[in-house]
Amino acid sequence: MNIATVIVDVPALGTDKEFDYLIPDKWMGIIEPGMRVAVPFGPRTIQGFVIAIKQNSSVRKLKEISEPLDITPVLNKELLELGYWLAHETLSFKILTYQAMLPAAMKAKYEKKIVRLNREHHPLLDEIFADQEELDWSDVERQGIHRDIHNEIKNGNIEVIYQIKNRASKKKVKTYHLVMEIHDIEKLKESLRANAVQQKTVLDYVMNHPTDKYIGTELIKNTNVSYATLTSLVNKGVFTESNEEVYRDPFEHKTFIPSDPLPLTSQQTEAIKPILNTIESNNHETFLLYGVTGSGKTEIYLQSIQKVLEEGKEAIVLVPEIALTPQMVDRFKSRFGKDVAVLHSGLSVGEKYDEWRKVLRKEAKVVVGARSAVFAPFENLGIIIIDEEHETSYKQEEMPRYHARDVAIQRAKYHKCPVILGSATPALESFARAQKGVYTLLTLSKRMNDRNLPSVSIVDMREEMRNGNRSMFSRELFEKLQDRLEKKQQTILFLNRRGHSSFMMCRDCGFVMQCPNCDISLTYHQFSNEMKCHYCGFVTSVPNICPECTSEHIRYFGTGTQKVEEELHKILPDARVVRMDVDTTSRKGAHEQLLDHFKSGNADILLGTQMIAKGLDFPNVTLVGVLSADTMLHLPDFRAGEKTFQLLTQVSGRAGRHELPGEVVIQTYSPEHYSVELAGKQNYDQFYKQEMIMRKIGSYSPFYYLSLITVSHEDLMKAVSVTEKITKYIGSRLSGNAIILGPVASPMSRVNNRYRYQCLIKYKKEPELKNILKTVIEHYYPQTVKEGLMIHIDVNPYMMM
Ligand code: ADP
Ligand code: ZN
Ligand code: ZN
Repeated sequence: MNIATVIVDVPALGTDKEFDYLIPDKWMGIIEPGMRVAVPFGPRTIQGFVIAIKQNSSVRKLKEISEPLDITPVLNKELLELGYWLAHETLSFKILTYQAMLPAAMKAKYEKKIVRLNREHHPLLDEIFADQEELDWSDVERQGIHRDIHNEIKNGNIEVIYQIKNRASKKKVKTYHLVMEIHDIEKLKESLRANAVQQKTVLDYVMNHPTDKYIGTELIKNTNVSYATLTSLVNKGVFTESNEEVYRDPFEHKTFIPSDPLPLTSQQTEAIKPILNTIESNNHETFLLYGVTGSGKTEIYLQSIQKVLEEGKEAIVLVPEIALTPQMVDRFKSRFGKDVAVLHSGLSVGEKYDEWRKVLRKEAKVVVGARSAVFAPFENLGIIIIDEEHETSYKQEEMPRYHARDVAIQRAKYHKCPVILGSATPALESFARAQKGVYTLLTLSKRMNDRNLPSVSIVDMREEMRNGNRSMFSRELFEKLQDRLEKKQQTILFLNRRGHSSFMMCRDCGFVMQCPNCDISLTYHQFSNEMKCHYCGFVTSVPNICPECTSEHIRYFGTGTQKVEEELHKILPDARVVRMDVDTTSRKGAHEQLLDHFKSGNADILLGTQMIAKGLDFPNVTLVGVLSADTMLHLPDFRAGEKTFQLLTQVSGRAGRHELPGEVVIQTYSPEHYSVELAGKQNYDQFYKQEMIMRKIGSYSPFYYLSLITVSHEDLMKAVSVTEKITKYIGSRLSGNAIILGPVASPMSRVNNRYRYQCLIKYKKEPELKNILKTVIEHYYPQTVKEGLMIHIDVNPYMMM
């Protein structure tokens, strides 16, 4: 058993296979499946994952593994298998599935170095290497001696190597262990000179707070001495000193008030019963917990998890990134305390790594996190919960293009445990499955304490226009805003930013500033005074005159949050506004600060984008305004209606969650659209019926499965012709029941100077499709390497652009 099968860190088709390596004697019995190892690959050393250990290999001359990168496996058997399954399901490279399972800190970074191969006298090498064995490539670059270096590589005097840099650093702190008996400390104190005040302070402190060990920084804070003082006490035998590993705890400075399980209402009791049954009987089942906001879903999650913990098992809770607010985390931390690890993008790379290691070491039993937390390395999973399961952020838009819901169900089958999908507005696919009995539907129809849903009024903005109101605020919304200011109640104003950012237009000639690389207009950023492209990152300065006709009448259109804020200051000069968008929340912790500011009553209006739509719960908010409900309706996406409905329903749920009744004002240019109208009535059931009819007519999901192939190339004709060929090839191999649309230009027809064409396949049952798609990828692989052709395949796409 001295051969390891390794998946190497080269995400490409040609290397997406198992490579065999010899395990050197010194690592025998140490290297195990699930560990990361460094292996030679061509001229470089790269990272790989050991997926199996075996006796024989069909390859005759094997290279040796350079060294293990882990002491214990970082992926268990289940996750190793899951990676293969995921690669197959999503047509991804295996290495990327494993990387997706681990925190970013563990992704290999390679450092390019040059190493001297001999010590023979050599003027140039003697000089640049001095006494060092190796140099960073960046040093060489800085000196501008590429040519010389290349010559010496050819001459065999030096070699370029790639070293794997481990970013997964552990945090260490200086720790002082008390090793002297108390009465000896007393004696020591008396023997000290009178002016050794600092040492005496420490000894006093230690005698008053005796414990085995002290963290250096804390000891210094509490005694107000310097490290030098502590060192002299180490020399006198009071302490021994060591560096100990600690977790970076993002919640270090927070206290959580413990919360007890609430007695459940009769509806909740009905709903939780079958969940508890499956936990007890060790069965897999997927539940769709369908309940309006405030109906008590989270309490059901909490009590289900409690049952799982009592059974000695572990739980994963997924929450959409933007809803993973401190408030949400608090509820889990309060109930389960230190058993909870939190994984989300707000944490630093190091913090995330530490939280993840708590799971690996079985120090945490509950993980609350965003999409990728579905891969938490538990070995005894008892439940997976997906809150707001309809959220599209559960789908990853890069390889592996997986949906967390599918991964959750796959893992739960393996562990024979339940999955709970919770939502007030389930994805159409999920609700349809519940209707068919694939999922078990659990309904919470009432809000807690029978609180009424807020009253919603829909304002037709075309009507406002006709009546001469050109402001972005309807009269009704304006009056209500004024009213709340007088009553000292709070308002949330929601701006649906997608497709609605501000752009620059010339009022004389109509010129709109476009990205030179993409087919999209540039977005105006007032803060940095720049025009930016949100697709390729292109940035340019803001023109003073129209680049087309040199007119000075340039205006910025659209209603970005900044513009709304300005307008608010004009019409309600006394209102204190907190603005939350990508610009104001990019700094770490800013998100939480802004919310705290609002929550503590220091602001009257919270103005923001998608990120304020979910999960927030403020007692004093009695008005919610949606500035433009329909910006998303007209996107070229068959889910546009569903997304609009979900968002409006969610936003409306922010008002009147507590004693004070709530009101919602939705401004729209399409008041008659059923998504807007039914969101106003908070009528999901009716929306579901109506939307299912539309999906059936359009042959979309959930009636058909979809796969989207996007081809892109710098040359338009190349993109078109390849898409055409692919479409034909696939069409001739699928059954007559499949519908193939294409080739057509993608809605985003050019990004970063690449033309994009696509082909959409709709199908019910095509067992051969995955193999056909793989053949396509393989066939075009040489062209993707040599000619810059790109082919993306998205199985069950959520972004149709
Ligand atoms: P959801 O997750 O469906 O939005 P929550 O679980 O947040 O609903 O419940 C809404 C509010 O009702 C919360 O403040 C919660 O503490 C409270 N609540 C939930 N269940 C109960 C219960 N059985 N008894 C009393 N209060 C409850
Ligand atoms: Zn661009
Ligand atoms: Zn012009």
